[in-house]
Amino acid sequence: MEGNIPNEFVDEVRTRFDVVELISEYVQLKRSGRNYFGLCPFHGEKTPSFSVSQDKQIFHCFGCGEGGNVFSFLMKMEGIPFPEAVKELARRAGMQLPSTVSSVAAQRAEQKKSRLREAMAWADKYYRYWLQHQDGAKALHYLEKRGLTREIIESFGLGFAPNRWEAVKQFLRKKDFTERELLDAGLLSDNPKKTYDRFRNRITFPICSPRGETIAFGGRILDDGEPKYLNSPETPLFDKGKNLYAIHLAREAIRREKQAIIFEGYMDVIAAHQAGVTNAVASLGTSLTEAQARLLRSQAEEVVIVYDADAAGQAATWRGLQILKSAGCLVKVGRLPAGMDPDDYIRRHGGDAFRKDIIGEALLLVDYQMASLAQQYSLDKDEDRIRLFNKISEILASVDNAMEREDYVTKAAAMLKLPATAVREELNKKKQSASRPHSQTRKSSTIKPSLQRETAAQKAPMQIIALWGRFPSLIEESAGQLEEEDFPAELIPAFLEAQKEKASFSAARLLDSLQEEKHRQTLSRLLIHEEYDEKIAKKAIDDCIRLLKCVRIARQRKELEAQMASLDPVAAKGEINELSKKWLELRKLEETINHPREGGKGVG
Ligand SMILES: [Zn+2]
Repeated sequence: MEGNIPNEFVDEVRTRFDVVELISEYVQLKRSGRNYFGLCPFHGEKTPSFSVSQDKQIFHCFGCGEGGNVFSFLMKMEGIPFPEAVKELARRAGMQLPSTVSSVAAQRAEQKKSRLREAMAWADKYYRYWLQHQDGAKALHYLEKRGLTREIIESFGLGFAPNRWEAVKQFLRKKDFTERELLDAGLLSDNPKKTYDRFRNRITFPICSPRGETIAFGGRILDDGEPKYLNSPETPLFDKGKNLYAIHLAREAIRREKQAIIFEGYMDVIAAHQAGVTNAVASLGTSLTEAQARLLRSQAEEVVIVYDADAAGQAATWRGLQILKSAGCLVKVGRLPAGMDPDDYIRRHGGDAFRKDIIGEALLLVDYQMASLAQQYSLDKDEDRIRLFNKISEILASVDNAMEREDYVTKAAAMLKLPATAVREELNKKKQSASRPHSQTRKSSTIKPSLQRETAAQKAPMQIIALWGRFPSLIEESAGQLEEEDFPAELIPAFLEAQKEKASFSAARLLDSLQEEKHRQTLSRLLIHEEYDEKIAKKAIDDCIRLLKCVRIARQRKELEAQMASLDPVAAKGEINELSKKWLELRKLEETINHPREGGKGVG
């Protein structure tokens, strides 16, 4: 599985990363007892069942069964194969990959990406430089007129792309980047005749990865040109559906405040940060994607959408809400006075007022939906009231919590000027008909089916390995009683390693040797269970060993039986007698193994 990355290197990378630290970059974790808990980034949930163990350097989700070590986490989170996960962490740790590693093609792809990152870093410097020099004077003046301080311009890395066709192109060509590389980085555009600067006469907004590397730019035109905003295209570095503007600057505050504010525009985010509202990010141009919603959900308990008060903003809000809700976020909507965008509001009223009056007064999803529907229909017309009634019952039918729903029934009845019983009745009809079977199938498909029941004997090898992983000191006395043949093929490497490593056997390392996701999940679950101490573990191991010995004996007996059956009863009488004796011995052995058995409890 580890391709041609040497094991020593994999070990070295793993020990450089702490599982809690790595996962905290993606998920907000809280300590509880010996483990950390958070909302699982791999399935939608509202109560944390995703646990991380610092001692064992592993994670496991009791909701969906996902589990593993730092590598498995990154693989799942970034959707990359094992060797890529190792390389990515090595890169983050600034480690040089061994020269033997990876296919030539993969090596080239990585080299290319690192060239593109370099080009982006230079372009970033270049644009920043121009904002502070002659060509950029007008741009700087514009930003200052909009109230941005030097510090905030600096921390957001704002820059200026000169109004020339080959400014950044010439600069980077002199740094030995090829036109091809600059096209691939999205810094140049081309037509059949030539390549030229993509960003011209624009204020540049670097778009960064969560770790703060510049991966793309947004550019705002300085004069009245079109389009007003231009972004980098998708590149090997930049997938706009997976990134959020300013996430690298907002991440800490989001985690601290357990809340994320999401805007539409870059200027909204910058104004908010300058006013001290630093838990703010923006989607990149288009409406929110599921990946962005998951990224937010993994960091914050609550997400507040604050979009422009115009019609387009409202439509985008509505779409964004659905996506955030289905990702399992607690969603609220901050409403601005008509005709204002967040940037205007914050500049006029300041960060404290924004926090208190817009974020503090944000409506819960259902309240917002009801309020905005009420605006669309006239309550004086019976026709409209009926339509509104239908729409509202649909929304209320999606509220899972009964008490909450009842609360909304009262509100809706008051709004529609109807008796609450009428609303309740309609709601029950809606819930019984369409929504029930639908929501059930959806629920079961998002969570993986639980692992199929296995017999105790089938489970025993994995349990032993897991218990060894937790209590390596028990390996010494128990490993000798087992043989390779007691383990299924995929667990033999783990068994041999335990035998060899004894007390220094590492559970986190073990997870890398398991090819199948199913095994990784079982193992992480067994490893993270808290209610076993060493004494119980020892007993559980003994039980498992006894079970495996019986399995081994049964197999040997079957072999003897087959042998005897294949012999001629007359000609091979003596031989058959010998085999029969052996068979009886095995039978007795089985008895003695089974006899002292006293309902020991297995793990799992
Ligand atoms: Zn999960």
